[in-house]
Amino acid sequence: MKTVIYPGTFDPITKGHSDIIERALRLFDYVIVAVAKNASKTPCFSQETRIELAQQVLAPLPNVKVCAFNGLLIDFAKQHNVRMVLRGLRVVSDFEYELQLTNANRRLLPDIETVFLTPAERYAFTSSSLVREIATYGGDTTQFVDPIVAEALKTVRKE
Ligand code: ADP
Repeated sequence: MKTVIYPGTFDPITKGHSDIIERALRLFDYVIVAVAKNASKTPCFSQETRIELAQQVLAPLPNVKVCAFNGLLIDFAKQHNVRMVLRGLRVVSDFEYELQLTNANRRLLPDIETVFLTPAERYAFTSSSLVREIATYGGDTTQFVDPIVAEALKTVRKE
């Protein structure tokens, strides 16, 4: 079984994330979506809600499991006995941060490998933060997220 861990904040899960997961399922037998608590960001949705939304959105996909992830990625990888990590690359500006993260993880756990996939062009500019911004001002997010997530986003509207 070739398994890959897809870590992230998923605040909330977007069509870009789902696109990456679907592509990964062509390369791997199993994808573990690791939803980070993320102390460095202040997420809009709680970790529990982010997990629930991801579970509902990804339910039609076989061989995908959504897990909570707190702490270091290398510890999560060791616990699950997985050495492959998946990240998405959208635009050049993602690259520097992703490279830094990858190299840090490799320093900490030398046999870990990170695989980068690019989404369909139409999702290259989709991000959770953009979606949250649109939702905050009452905009329609259905182009970017699953209807389940769009519904949940209505609760974050300002005023
Ligand atoms: P993080 O806070 O760890 O960056 P995100 O949930 O924002 O968590 O993203 C998780 C991963 O998914 C990152 O590698 C990010 O680059 C990637 N990603 C996010 N949105 C997209 C998208 N639209 N297309 C492809 N990859 C994406």
